[in-house]
Amino acid sequence: MVIDYLSIMHQRIKLSQVRIGVDLDGVVADFTKGWTTQYALEFGTKISEEEITDWGLSKPLTHFDSDKDFWKWAMDINGSSIFRHLELYDQSQETLLELSKMGHEVVIISSKPWWSIHDTLIWLGEKKIPTKEVHFIEDKWTINCEVYLDDAPYQLENFINHVPEKKIIRFERPYNSHLEGTFSIKNWSDLIPLLNSF
Ligand SMILES: [Mg+2]
Repeated sequence: MVIDYLSIMHQRIKLSQVRIGVDLDGVVADFTKGWTTQYALEFGTKISEEEITDWGLSKPLTHFDSDKDFWKWAMDINGSSIFRHLELYDQSQETLLELSKMGHEVVIISSKPWWSIHDTLIWLGEKKIPTKEVHFIEDKWTINCEVYLDDAPYQLENFINHVPEKKIIRFERPYNSHLEGTFSIKNWSDLIPLLNSF
């Protein structure tokens, strides 16, 4: 019995050393569904996920002349920002909870704008995201983790350029594509099997 207990403890100690840096929008929070739903309500134009094949959110995808105009709209929709009411991607919260229970550290690393921070902190609490560490930072790679999950092409490139020795995981979305030096997953149910394969 003592050996069994020690072997379990050993496993937990090993797993507890893994820090997983998790982006929010496009990874945990369905930003695309959130903004396209609001956009259709307000401007009457439906935009499907498959149409969003580039990183930008201005013309020709939307009527906005620049991304700055998009964000000006997104920062105040009926008194709160677009980030206040985003839905979770399927199995995202459950998987993060499972990873936490396994001893991993879930580190939220988001590059959201300053005006979204209070909405995002409320959202993290409401959605019961199991994290003890939240960063709002553009240079995500400076937050030390063993594994990073992201969807933004430029952030994935930043990880490859600055911390190529880390496990960099791309969430496959229509607006990103394969990058040498990254792993990729389509669904949250693919994450734990991938981590177990490292
Ligand atoms: Mg993102």
